[in-house]
Amino acid sequence: MYIEKTHLTLPFRKYYFLIGLIFYLLFTANLGSAQIDSLEKRLLGLPENEERVDVLNQLSYAFAYNDTEQSLKLANEALELSETLGYEKGKAYSYHYLSAVQTIKGEFESSKKYNKMALEIGERIKANDLLIRAYNMKAYNWDKEGKVDEAIKIFIKALDLAEATNNTWGIRVISTNIGDYHASNGNFEKARTYYRKSIAIAEAHQQLNLLSWNYRQIAESYFKEGNLQEAKEYFNQSLELAEKVDDKRTMAFIKHNLALVHLDANERTKADIAANAALRIFKEVGDQEGLLFATTTSMKVCLASKRPDKAIRIGKAVEYISEGFKTSPTYLEVQENLVAAYEQKQDYKTAHLIHKKLHAVKDSVDYQNRLNDAMKLEEKYDSEKKETENALLRAEQQKQAATIHHQRLLNFFLVLVAILVSVLGYVIYRAYEEKTSNNQLLEEKVNERTNELLTTNQKLLQSNEELARFAYVASHDLREPLRNIMNFTQLLQGEVQKAGLKEGLVYMNIINKSTHQMNQLILGTLEFTQLSNKNAQNEPLDLNKTVDNIQSSITSLLTKRKVTIDLSKPLPTIEANPARMYSLFKNLIENGIKYNQSEAPTIKIDVQENADFYTFSVKDNGIGIEKAYQDTVFEMYKRLQNKEQYDGAGLGLSNCKKIVNNMGGEIWLESEVGKGTTFLFTIAKSPKRMKREATLN
Ligand code: ADP
Repeated sequence: MYIEKTHLTLPFRKYYFLIGLIFYLLFTANLGSAQIDSLEKRLLGLPENEERVDVLNQLSYAFAYNDTEQSLKLANEALELSETLGYEKGKAYSYHYLSAVQTIKGEFESSKKYNKMALEIGERIKANDLLIRAYNMKAYNWDKEGKVDEAIKIFIKALDLAEATNNTWGIRVISTNIGDYHASNGNFEKARTYYRKSIAIAEAHQQLNLLSWNYRQIAESYFKEGNLQEAKEYFNQSLELAEKVDDKRTMAFIKHNLALVHLDANERTKADIAANAALRIFKEVGDQEGLLFATTTSMKVCLASKRPDKAIRIGKAVEYISEGFKTSPTYLEVQENLVAAYEQKQDYKTAHLIHKKLHAVKDSVDYQNRLNDAMKLEEKYDSEKKETENALLRAEQQKQAATIHHQRLLNFFLVLVAILVSVLGYVIYRAYEEKTSNNQLLEEKVNERTNELLTTNQKLLQSNEELARFAYVASHDLREPLRNIMNFTQLLQGEVQKAGLKEGLVYMNIINKSTHQMNQLILGTLEFTQLSNKNAQNEPLDLNKTVDNIQSSITSLLTKRKVTIDLSKPLPTIEANPARMYSLFKNLIENGIKYNQSEAPTIKIDVQENADFYTFSVKDNGIGIEKAYQDTVFEMYKRLQNKEQYDGAGLGLSNCKKIVNNMGGEIWLESEVGKGTTFLFTIAKSPKRMKREATLN
């Protein structure tokens, strides 16, 4: 760590930083030119992938100290490629190395910016190796700005992370830096505990150059404490290791340090030898700044041993050093030593001249420093302003990103909803289409069936009509020969009777009955066929009169059988065909009398009325009808008894059914064997309805 106020008394301290950086870059990177060559070769065969980013970064790291421009170029190339590839870790390392190179160049503001970006990515992707390096860099930059307390906090954070992840590079480098921090604050013992952490790792990995470096630091801490003995011992151990690995530069630094130690120990000869060796090696390796350090030390040794001429000779030798160094504090120290040497020689004139020159330079250096400070302040202000602007921009960016994210989510849901609605719409449309086509199909089928039914009905009507016509023609035509048979049978019966042919009379009786039966069948059938004619004329008809007429036509039967015909209430007047109503009531009344074994048959006629229909009933106290036959009695030619027992053709009830049905009504019966039968039928009140329903039959 570099602390201004101590650097004049301990001249090597000003090398801390520079050496620290060399340490950071060279000893830790451990990259020689052979490795650079092999990395460059590897790069040739690599396509634009993540490995190429890694190699570019490693190369940038390798060039950082020796060729900053090349190093920057490589890191920028790596950055560009990692951005194209979306390779976050590669990007973070590129930023880190850009930051390192900027530090080497002395561009701390720029270095801090790059390192900040490296840290942001490192923390986001949790790249510990990178984080350790980036924290180290951050602390290093803060330390450089004089923010030592913040720096040490970050160093400790980095060391904790390095120890937790067993990152030997991190433990080594950061321990060394923390050691430097404590040493600069005068906590030498504490500093050494950190140096020893680094030593432990260097020993374990047999990294001799590193060990040499750490021993040198321990030696230095003892020297600062005034423990010259320990200091000498560690410097010598450090020197031994540097010689082993032939690290000339470190060797030169140690010789230079040893010269100072010997000087303090009043061992002037040894100091002189060491200082000369340092001078020689720095010249050999071409390290001009090192040469300046060794020069001041050498001059001090000469002055201490009162050899001003040698001091002047050594001091003048660096007058030809690069212009860039001529304002450096070390060069000014050389000039101060020259003044002291001329004073020792009592050449006060020259001493005064150099002193004047020195002050002019110092003033200009001070002016330059003030100018630099002002510029730095301005730069700092600018960068802070930019930082604030950036922070605002970043916040705005984040806000916008959140809005975009929100909008994206919303869009996604909208698209989802739209898709769902479309799917639903499609499903509904399909279902509707299917239903419509089904309906159409159904409608077509219904129409087809209706048409079929109509045709069938038509055909049925036609065939019914043909059948009725045939039955009518047949029964009508049959009556003529039958009438002849009946007439001639009667004639024949008279002749047989006259002849006294007993057996012949029996035969004639049978023929008579059969012809009578046949006549009844033909009449019944004829009546039935006539009922098929639906164009029967209706007219208002008083049913009471109809029943009266029937009674008049069968008076002898009524008397003979002692029949009572009873009307519960007067019957209504309805719109109907008189002949058919007559036939209907007559059939039912005659059946009630015929199928009746009581002494005095009773026929009760009743009517019930509702909004649309009349329900008539004809009740007898006859033999009744078994349950099993209550429906079949309405069929044509259906008879339950034989004709010997009860005379009949089996057509009466079928005719009744046809009449009622033709008028749109229904007929049925209720009966109990031995007790009697009630025939019930309905007749619609409205003739329109009656007519319509009748046409359906
Ligand atoms: P039929 O000319 O034989 O009387 P119907 O068609 O009038 O023919 O009657 C059919 C059959 O129904 C009859 O043979 C008879 O057995 C039965 N029947 C009809 N009316 C009655 C009734 N009032 N009581 C009992 N049985 C009846």
